[in-house]
Amino acid sequence: MAHDCIFCRIVAGEIPAQVVHDDDRALVFRDVNPQAPTHLLVIPKRHVASADHLTREDEGLAGHLLLAAGEAARSLGLAGDGYRIVTNIGRNGGQTVSHLHLHVLGGRSLGWPPG
Ligand code: AMP
Repeated sequence: MAHDCIFCRIVAGEIPAQVVHDDDRALVFRDVNPQAPTHLLVIPKRHVASADHLTREDEGLAGHLLLAAGEAARSLGLAGDGYRIVTNIGRNGGQTVSHLHLHVLGGRSLGWPPG
């Protein structure tokens, strides 16, 4: 655990979150500043700085996170109208929290391309 990492602290239970899914490797919780009617964050419990820091050894974890995102979206009724899974990487990608997270956004029509 990285003690200065806000998402590690959520995993450790030191900071509250609205958790919608919790398993051995992943946590899914609601974004505190939602950009859509449903806005979830899917994170690995282990600290990984971004998707760019995943290695071949993380193949299973990467698949697990993607599947957890889809399962959470489906369980919250987003699948019918569609939704978006996106991950920001680094400064140009707009990443503000340096712990890998997949955003799951749904409940409204989303613009493309992103700004
Ligand atoms: P990014 O800009 O892609 O790094 O996304 C970070 C996201 O984390 C933003 O959408 C924030 O609103 C969200 N966030 C930051 N702190 C918290 C928190 N304590 N609980 C839930 N979401 C958070």
